[in-house]
Amino acid sequence: MKRKIAVYGKGGMSKNLMQRISGKWKDSFEPCGLYMLEEDIPETGIMGIRELKNKIAAGQIHALLLPPLGKEIADIIEKHQMYFECPLFYAEPRVWYGTDEEMHIRLIDYERPWLSVFEYHVNDHCNMNCRGCGHCSNLYEEPSFTSLEVYERDIKRIRELYDGVSLIRLLGGEPLMNPELYRFLYLTRDIFPEAQLHIVTNGILLLDMPDVLLNSIRNTGTVVDISVYPPMVPKMGQFRCFLEEKDIDYHISIADKFYRKFLPEGNGCKEEAFANCFSSENHLLSDGKLASCAMPFAIDKLNMIYGLGICESGWIEINDCNLDGFELNRRLKTPTGLCKYCSSKLEMYQWEQSVKENRSLDDWIYHEGHYDRQ
Ligand code: SF4
Ligand code: SF4
Repeated sequence: MKRKIAVYGKGGMSKNLMQRISGKWKDSFEPCGLYMLEEDIPETGIMGIRELKNKIAAGQIHALLLPPLGKEIADIIEKHQMYFECPLFYAEPRVWYGTDEEMHIRLIDYERPWLSVFEYHVNDHCNMNCRGCGHCSNLYEEPSFTSLEVYERDIKRIRELYDGVSLIRLLGGEPLMNPELYRFLYLTRDIFPEAQLHIVTNGILLLDMPDVLLNSIRNTGTVVDISVYPPMVPKMGQFRCFLEEKDIDYHISIADKFYRKFLPEGNGCKEEAFANCFSSENHLLSDGKLASCAMPFAIDKLNMIYGLGICESGWIEINDCNLDGFELNRRLKTPTGLCKYCSSKLEMYQWEQSVKENRSLDDWIYHEGHYDRQ
């Protein structure tokens, strides 16, 4: 039976899905317009919740379809479960990068939740060594690669816990320093066909990527996110030309400011820090553990180098058999004991490189009254 289907959103991907439904997919679906999760959207041609509910009740719409819109998809799915009872479908990223004629549409299973995002260090060390790196990569003096086998074990567990993952970011350290990065990409795409897959790089090795890596990036529809630090600004034009010529999707952002927020005495208010924290939505997966942010995995380096003695905690053991994805999501949205080591405000400073001789704990410590950003 042909389903009458409405598409979520108003951007390019949503409009592109509408075109596919009217064209290549017309044997399976009939397009019924775009909608948003707002009560009413008068005079835009986009349906709001009220209109959509009425049309579903009248049998004029049978199903809803989501494009891959990054990490917010997890929350959008939760809201759909609250508002509507009709089937919800999701268009996987390979609709756009794939070459086959399949539709790559999956039915959302409300029995398990979605995870908004996880990040993963394919190595901990870096070739940029920024002062006050939020992942403490500048404190690694020796190469520190993570194991593909451990990663595979952990992502298979994530697959069991969740119906889907919206966004996966492979980073470091500098991920292009890992000669196995292409294997991480293929494995990730194999296990999570639904995820938007990104690598995050400082660009130093970008123009020297070997063919095996370039092919894996293209074949897995990976997006390359380049954080351009001041030494690499003159190369930005080359990055663009290179990636466009290789037919690789990318985002470039300038990173010339860093911030300090660490309170080594642990005298902050954890609730306030968490409520104001934008890192809390960048969940990090590491060796059987998942945390809201990178801090629980960075603190051991600060302890070791600066003799701090802070209790290493703040993660969730993903193999705990009493946990399901719903409980994991609840805990990821809850402050931990480690949050009292963060200020709710940020002290901004100009980006600098650091070497062993000039780095200090002060590179991370928040000072009241300096250049603050709430
Ligand atoms: S490039 Fe990124 S990972 Fe490397 S030191 Fe700078 S902030 Fe840290
Ligand atoms: S420890 Fe808490 S407040 Fe600090 S970065 Fe992580 S989530 Fe944010």
